[in-house]
Amino acid sequence: TPFADFDIPEPLLRGLKDSGYEYCTPIQEKAIPIALLGNDVAGEAQTGTGKTAAFLVPVMAGMMRDKKRKTGVPGALMIAPTRELALQIYQDALEFGRYADFEISAVFGGVDYRKQANILRSGVDIVVGTPGRLIDYIKQGILDVKNIRHLVIDEADRLFDMGFVADLRWIMRRLPDYKRRQSMLFSATLGYRVLELTYEFMNLPQEVTV
Ligand code: AMP
Repeated sequence: TPFADFDIPEPLLRGLKDSGYEYCTPIQEKAIPIALLGNDVAGEAQTGTGKTAAFLVPVMAGMMRDKKRKTGVPGALMIAPTRELALQIYQDALEFGRYADFEISAVFGGVDYRKQANILRSGVDIVVGTPGRLIDYIKQGILDVKNIRHLVIDEADRLFDMGFVADLRWIMRRLPDYKRRQSMLFSATLGYRVLELTYEFMNLPQEVTV
C-alpha cells in the first residue's frame, strides 16, 4: 500500500516521501489503518520491520488533525528502552515531520540535563525518551504529562528485560486515563508479561503481527 492511500495530512506525506517512504512495510500496512481510526494497537514486530513509522505516522497524523491541540504542550510520549532507540525514533520523527509544525524533544541520560530541561520548558509537542530521565523531569515538574493523548511503548520486552517495568507503571499512572489517550505498544514478542501490561494500561488493544 502506498502511504498516499491513507487519510493522512499532506505535509506528513511529503515528509515521508522525502525520507524515501512511499510504500508500506507489512507492519505499517496492518497497524496504521487501525491506529488512524483511533484504536489502541499492540504490535509484534522486530527492529528492521518498519515499526517506527507504524507508530509515528498515526501519532503525527492524529496530532495534526486535532484542532483542540495546543502547540508547545506535550501531546505525545514515546518510551524506549535505550538511548540508541530513542534517538532513532527522534530522528525519524524530525524527518517525517519536517513539513509539519512540531517541536520534538529527545530525553535520555548522558545528555546535558539542563540543556534538555530548557528545551522542555521552551515548549515541545512530542517527547521521546528512556524511562529514568523521563521520570526525573516529571518529578521536577519540567515535563508535564497531563495532556498526553498519544502514548507509545517501543520494544516492550526489552523494557521488561532491563528492569524498567516499575518505571513504566510509574509513568503511566501519571498520564491521562487510558480511555482519554491512544496507546500503542510494540514488542518483538507479545508474551504473557507484555500482554498483561497491555490489559492493564491499554483500551482494548488490537493485536497486529507480522
Ligand atoms: P525500523 O524497523 O522502523 O527501525 O525500520 C528499519 C529500516 O527500514 C529503517 O532504515 C527505515 O528507514 C526503513 N524503512 C522502514 N519503513 C520503510 C518504508 N515504508 N519505506 C522505506 N524504508 C523504510
